[in-house]
Amino acid sequence: MNIKTKLTFGIGVLVAMIVLLVVLSAVNLQILTATEPDSPAAGPGLQRALMWIYIVGIACILIGIGMLFRLPSSINKPIKELTNGIMEIANHNYQKRLNLGPNEEFIEVAESFNRMAERLAEYRASTLSDLLAGKKYIEAIVNSITEPIIGLNKDKQIVFVNEAALNVLNLKREAIINQSAPELSLKNDLLRRLIRELLNPGDTKEPLKIYADNKESYFQAKYIPIKMVETGEKEQTYIGDVILLKNITEFKELDAAKTTFISTISHELKTPISAILMSLQLLEDKRVGALNEEQEELSKSIKENSERLLGITGELLNLTQVEAGKLQLMPKITKPIELIDYAIKANRVQAERFGIQIEVEYPEEKVSKLFVDSEKIAWVLTNLLSNAIRYSPENGRVIIGARQEDDYVEMYVQDFGKGIDPRYHQSIFDRYFRVPGTKVQGSGLGLSISKDFVEAHNGTLTIQSEVGKGSRFVIRFKVK
Ligand code: ADP
Repeated sequence: MNIKTKLTFGIGVLVAMIVLLVVLSAVNLQILTATEPDSPAAGPGLQRALMWIYIVGIACILIGIGMLFRLPSSINKPIKELTNGIMEIANHNYQKRLNLGPNEEFIEVAESFNRMAERLAEYRASTLSDLLAGKKYIEAIVNSITEPIIGLNKDKQIVFVNEAALNVLNLKREAIINQSAPELSLKNDLLRRLIRELLNPGDTKEPLKIYADNKESYFQAKYIPIKMVETGEKEQTYIGDVILLKNITEFKELDAAKTTFISTISHELKTPISAILMSLQLLEDKRVGALNEEQEELSKSIKENSERLLGITGELLNLTQVEAGKLQLMPKITKPIELIDYAIKANRVQAERFGIQIEVEYPEEKVSKLFVDSEKIAWVLTNLLSNAIRYSPENGRVIIGARQEDDYVEMYVQDFGKGIDPRYHQSIFDRYFRVPGTKVQGSGLGLSISKDFVEAHNGTLTIQSEVGKGSRFVIRFKVK
């Protein structure tokens, strides 16, 4: 019986009984007033019948009232159970099932609830297995990558690592998964270096030399911060980092082969170029025979180009020294003016050819001596002065000088040529880089080698330049 029927029935019985009792009371009253007290109609038979009717009527009323009173509790109990069931589902207990009693409406509610719980259980099982399958798939991808990969969460715990990374780290997966990388790095050199570089993003990152694949290998580390938009959020939040190690051994080997090749060629070229220059000197000697004007012009051009060739082979040799890590410094105490004089002498002919006036700024007593490889630093100054002359307009002026600034000695070369656009101030120190549109001939090596030479002495080589106003290159060494 459903609640509505129960309610209707209870109220119906109640109302009917009340009506019956009222009618009976009225009839009883009428009989009592209409009949003679000693007439048979008012006899004990009638009295008993009326009494029974009252008893039954009152009992029915009581039953009706009882049913009405029981009604709220018969609704309350299943609702409570339903609430509990919903709470269980909210707590991910999808095994919860309801039996809300015999009421038709609640049977339906319980059935719907149970169906929903079953579907949720099914859905959860399927999403879990999907998630597991997805996780395995991603793990398989990470593992099949031949370059080492390490994934860290935002607390720097290792959350994934592939076989290649385990191999180079020489660690077991179980020993590092979910462990703090900084703690692990205390016992692992490679991890220590990776974590240090990850925590100090500004530092220059040299390739890592690691013993892998049964040989010495070189790896370039790449640090990728991982960001994600969390559910319900709009902004990306940082969730960790991925460290990728790129195996650059092959490039290193090719680079070394290139360096050896350039070094050999430059060495081989030096001898014939020097021989050409010697022969030209002989040709210039009148005792061999006088040259006519045209021949003299030709010989001058051959000499110029041979000198240029010699300069380039010298640059290349310097470059190979730096690249092969074979730069050997032979420092000795040197006065900056000696280096400046050397550079001026080496550039005198060129300066005369372009009508450039070289001015020297040198406060003799105020500049400390340097402890440097004078050959190398003289080469740098020569190169800077040569650039200043070559990139100046004809009949211009160039300043070369030195000065003391606290614990530092600065040597500088300044020109008033076309200057260099600020966007190239960094790239001009890269190998083979030449400012786009540069017409003057050159190799793009001089400044990069110069920087390497100066930095090998723990010094700095910097540029200050403005387009249209000229450039100033400054070498700076700490002297105290
Ligand atoms: P190179 O002069 O042989 O090309 P460098 O390494 O000495 O090589 O110089 C790199 C480039 O920087 C040059 O090609 C030129 O474009 C620019 N540069 C260097 N010095 C100056 C200067 N004093 N004025 C203007 N541009 C310069």
